[in-house]
Amino acid sequence: MASEGQGPSVDGWGRGGPRRAQRAPAVRACDDVRVRAADLIVVGGGVIGLSVARELCRAGAEGVVVLEAGPAVGQGSSSRANGGFRAQFTTAVNVEFSRYSIGELEALERDSGLLSMRQVGYLLLTGTEEGERGLRAACELQRSLGVPTEWLAPQQILERAPFVRPGGLRAGTFHSRDGYLDPHGLVMALHAEARRLGARIETGAAVRAIERDPDGAFEVSRTEGSWSAPWVVNAAGAGARAVAAMLGIDLPVVPYRRNLALVADPGGGSAPVPMCVDLDTGVLVRRESKGGWVIAYSNPNDPPSTSTFVDPAFLEDLADRVPNRFPFLAEAPIDPAHCWAGLYPETPDRHAIIGEIPEVPGFLQCAGFGGHGLMHAPAAGRAIAELVTTGRCDAFDLRPLRPSRFAEGDLVVESAVL
Ligand SMILES: Cc1cc2nc3c(=O)[nH]c(=O)nc-3n(C[C@H](O)[C@H](O)[C@H](O)COP(=O)(O)OP(=O)(O)OC[C@H]3O[C@@H](n4cnc5c(N)ncnc54)[C@H](O)[C@@H]3O)c2cc1C
Repeated sequence: MASEGQGPSVDGWGRGGPRRAQRAPAVRACDDVRVRAADLIVVGGGVIGLSVARELCRAGAEGVVVLEAGPAVGQGSSSRANGGFRAQFTTAVNVEFSRYSIGELEALERDSGLLSMRQVGYLLLTGTEEGERGLRAACELQRSLGVPTEWLAPQQILERAPFVRPGGLRAGTFHSRDGYLDPHGLVMALHAEARRLGARIETGAAVRAIERDPDGAFEVSRTEGSWSAPWVVNAAGAGARAVAAMLGIDLPVVPYRRNLALVADPGGGSAPVPMCVDLDTGVLVRRESKGGWVIAYSNPNDPPSTSTFVDPAFLEDLADRVPNRFPFLAEAPIDPAHCWAGLYPETPDRHAIIGEIPEVPGFLQCAGFGGHGLMHAPAAGRAIAELVTTGRCDAFDLRPLRPSRFAEGDLVVESAVL
């Protein structure tokens, strides 16, 4: 940990750490010098980086600069997401992140009207004894944390989703505040808010190198020129490992290609139905508000990949798995032109990495959100804002997300990964 004068550091994890005097950052951005000074640089302008910037500004920080490599914000994984949000996870930290984030997303929708939120609920289904056991444990955990997840018998499942194949169905869970939103709308809302609150957002600004000065400040070199700041937040999504490597850190964030298909509604309906997840096959289906169904499946055996072309094997996977619970979609023709793919920035335990790298004070990670970065963006931003402005996080217990857990071998795996 740095001593006084060596730059900032985050001292405590979770709810019990020591509270540090709030820093009083000031904007020192200046356009006419080669190295401009800021108080905090966020690398990456996806939902996570934008949420971090917004939350920092809400917490009173000034001099926040977001550097995004792409020509516009939100064009990485964020633009390719399914838009689902749910509180139905299997670990306390993920449930807490969802609980907080769903409330924030509702507020953002009220204020901006940009999210096209549909709170149709997530309906998780299983027809196996093991699946039922897991679902029961997750349901109890969620309820213990204040999420009113409902336990459903087969008949209750069919009342909510009459199209589900009933044979062998054992149980399901449902949470009515889960649902889906428009990922582009969320990017736009976070971007507008971050800018309104004073964040500076540069696009076409790929970070090429980060160096640490002897006085502890970081010099962040982008496409043209540099920024200097005492804090850097790595929110580079699938590029987070490369950004961490610029400071000699091996961050275990690995990209995996994930695919989605949009098919026409065989019945031609458009009435809202829950996001339905067949836990026995991993297939998720949802009805689009304008008609048609989005089908998702993440093959756990896929190797890491940076390709964002649709994987032909995805269509074969769907053919094998969709009929199990959604036979009405089995014959629906899938037009590859209506499929798309993007990257999950994954970690070995399927939890995000949030916190400061102990060996590099002032360098915070906010990455590795896998398939739940969209829905957890508000909580992630809040966590980083608290760490930077108060030196600890009171809103969440961040210990399970600390960067050092991999070296310590202290991992808790999230199994509700879709
Ligand atoms: C098919 C699919 C479906 C998904 N469905 C859901 C879902 O239903 N719900 C959900 O919550 N999540 C979902 N996700 C996951 C979600 O999209 C991600 O977790 C989330 O977008 C991660 O956000 P991010 O800001 O970390 O990453 P990104 O959106 O990728 O943003 C990172 C940004 O960093 C920039 N960057 C990288 N390197 C540099 C650099 N050196 N300098 C400057 N900028 C850099 C990139 O250009 C990029 O814009 C899905 C993902 C996919 C692919």
